[in-house]
Amino acid sequence: MREVPFGRPIIGDEERNAVMEVLQGHMFVHGPLSKKFEDAFAQYTNAPYAVSVSSCTAALHLAYFYLNIGPDDEVIVPAQTHTATAHAVELCGGKTVFVDAEIRTGNIDIEQIEAKITEKTRAISVVPFLGMPLNMDRIKEIAEKHDLFIVEDTALAIGTYYKGVHAGLHGDVGCFSFYPVKHMTTAEGGMLITKNEKIANTVRRTRAFGVDRHIGERKQPVYDVTMLGFNYRMNELQAAMGIEQIKRLDSILQKRQQNYEVLSQGLMEISEIKQLQSSHDEYQSSYYCLSILLENELTDKRIDIINFLKDKGIGTSVYYPKPVPLLSYYKNKYGYQDNEFPIASLISNHSIALPVGPHLNEEDMNYIVDNLKTAVITVNRS
Ligand SMILES: *Cc1c(COP(=O)(O)O)cnc(C)c1O
Repeated sequence: MREVPFGRPIIGDEERNAVMEVLQGHMFVHGPLSKKFEDAFAQYTNAPYAVSVSSCTAALHLAYFYLNIGPDDEVIVPAQTHTATAHAVELCGGKTVFVDAEIRTGNIDIEQIEAKITEKTRAISVVPFLGMPLNMDRIKEIAEKHDLFIVEDTALAIGTYYKGVHAGLHGDVGCFSFYPVKHMTTAEGGMLITKNEKIANTVRRTRAFGVDRHIGERKQPVYDVTMLGFNYRMNELQAAMGIEQIKRLDSILQKRQQNYEVLSQGLMEISEIKQLQSSHDEYQSSYYCLSILLENELTDKRIDIINFLKDKGIGTSVYYPKPVPLLSYYKNKYGYQDNEFPIASLISNHSIALPVGPHLNEEDMNYIVDNLKTAVITVNRS
């Protein structure tokens, strides 16, 4: 049987050799590779500054830590996202204020943001949902009007462009993830990009204990600690992988888009299935996956369809199984009701994410379409 896994990192001899080379030396952190990786990532995205970190969650945490978010502060967060988008605010003691999604793309409903802004609001976080950019001109307008910082959670947005500018550079910071099933991987890892030199310099300190100069900058073995900080550094093994992965990015992104287009075209023949909107005009998606929304009689057959596909070797996922405010931690803390985020809930309850990753090809896409057609007929009969 054909195997069509949802995600699989693309790792070759280049990555393996690069990691082995690091292991043959003895410099595992503070070496030249994390700097080299930062430069390559900055060049790829056209970012003035890039700071490598241990994960996207670390990058987000460092962003709110830089902002000095605390118990008196509120941050606007999309309801339909990864829990890390919200956790990063809560880790600093701030209050997350959730805004529902729009049905067209799954992105935050921009028109609902201003109603949630109070005098305590300090920042807006936006997430290109599954890689689909949002109207950042509108976000910037709102942020400027209310004097707010913009944090872009760009974990799934390598290759996402709005008006030709890479995601993460519209707001104040962009936070990327190199977790294994993202667009590129360093096993675990992340990158913060920014146009602001002060943010970059501060985050370089806070990712490493708040020490005032890192090892390479020390002429003598003395240093001072001028602020609090974490240990959120990326190591040289990760950076070695990252340098090789960046070289693959163009072909990875091209493959994703090709697969997406074949799959999308095929799925248009199934009338009970709706697709979230992807790239158009000035909006370029990174095509993380193709999320379908089940309509009419299919809405309560999701698990049957997922199981049918699974039996055919097709891996699926759900982004995300629950809106973040309805996860127990947030629900218990803030007392949210199940009906408060209707669009985010609809996406959580009725969507299935289909794979389009670079480990797959056109035949795999046709295999998904054929099996989905059969699945729809089969579950409708049962
Ligand atoms: C994966 C993901 C994260 C978390 O990334 P890590 O690198 O695992 O910390 C955060 N936000 C979004 C939108 C993600 O998809």
